[in-house]
Amino acid sequence: MTAARLPAIKTLEAFDFTFQPDLSERLLWELADLSFVKTATNVVFLGPPGTGKTHLSLALTVKALSAGYSALFTTLTHLAEALDSASYPGLVRQRLRRYTTPSVLVIDEVGYTKLSPGQAHHFFELVTARYEHGSILLTSNTGFSAWGSLLGDDVLATALLDRLLHHAEVIPINGRSYRMKDRSASASGGGQK
Ligand code: ADP
Ligand code: MG
Repeated sequence: MTAARLPAIKTLEAFDFTFQPDLSERLLWELADLSFVKTATNVVFLGPPGTGKTHLSLALTVKALSAGYSALFTTLTHLAEALDSASYPGLVRQRLRRYTTPSVLVIDEVGYTKLSPGQAHHFFELVTARYEHGSILLTSNTGFSAWGSLLGDDVLATALLDRLLHHAEVIPINGRSYRMKDRSASASGGGQK
């Protein structure tokens, strides 16, 4: 649990599916049976801020940890920094290994930081290394079409997405922000808590 570096403990039980009516509760509970971990299938949550992408990634990770799988949580920003500041090749390889060995790797908040050419290359290497070996749970606020500019390289982005999405469940969440829940309720005069 500690080694997984989860920023918070979240559960599916605590997720209010009625708040995201377009999201399939059944699909999430199916994923919670963890066959996606066994088959090294990736899960990609796409949507604007506050829609529960990190919550759901954490909930699935907690399930995986409870079942005895290893996991590691990181953000793309942290990942990029870790693989960039590593100055000599041996150290990069050692750090890459940290992200390739866990059964489940969460890469949160893809889309907030543009990557340098070196970082983009290492990100690609990581996705390639985990391809058909270990699951990636990824969250992003940007559509796949923006990944070329995110990685600064359209060809690399296409190759990366090809591997990432070959065995993947892509889950768009397009509802309202849960963080703004109370604010929008009072703004619309709903008064419902
Ligand atoms: P995102 O990663 O999409 O920006 P988060 O998963 O961080 O959003 O959600 C923001 C906060 O709101 C978190 O504390 C999360 O637990 C909570 N939250 C989001 N959606 C729901 C929901 N449908 N039911 C209960 N809590 C939610
Ligand atoms: Mg988040």
